[in-house]
Amino acid sequence: MKMFDIVSQKLNDSRKIVFVTGAGISQESGIPTFRGKDGHWRKHDPMRLASIDAFYDDPKLVWEWYEDRRKNILAAKPNEGHFAISNMEKFRDVVVLTQNIDGLHQRSGSTNVLELHGSIIRIKCTVCNFTANITKNFESLPPKCGCGNMLRPDVVWFGEALSQDIWKNAIKEASCCFTCEYITTLRKTKRCNFD
Ligand SMILES: [Zn+2]
Repeated sequence: MKMFDIVSQKLNDSRKIVFVTGAGISQESGIPTFRGKDGHWRKHDPMRLASIDAFYDDPKLVWEWYEDRRKNILAAKPNEGHFAISNMEKFRDVVVLTQNIDGLHQRSGSTNVLELHGSIIRIKCTVCNFTANITKNFESLPPKCGCGNMLRPDVVWFGEALSQDIWKNAIKEASCCFTCEYITTLRKTKRCNFD
């Protein structure tokens, strides 16, 4: 049986489906992969900018990078891959585990998304427990929390642990149902686990 026949049959037979997505699905919306080097950011190493050390060394620089990326992301639209997943909710229980921080799954209509690496459209305080969605551009960078300390993007940086609550939920969801690793669009399904 061919791969897509197997996938199709598994989707038909499954009551609940977990999709695991990464940068590939966002790339089709015109969002460069994390390691893509664009414009004036070419001279910076993204692996280094996305770190807690870089943030404390030069918070303005790191914030400018994230603001640039956030604006590109807000200008992008979900693609047919995102919509294929969200439309599946009409027929099945669907969970999306994503490494992407762009919120495109939610914008396409997916309602059950676990963001393993956080979200570029959220902020959190470096000291207190404040978190919020970013709803407008900042007047200056780095933005400050009401408590007086710096705010940061609510993303997981190199050297930081994933949110334990989200990770535990992701493991639970992925271990009890049909899991499909979704790389770019439904045309390119790389690997499926039929556990
Ligand atoms: Zn605070």
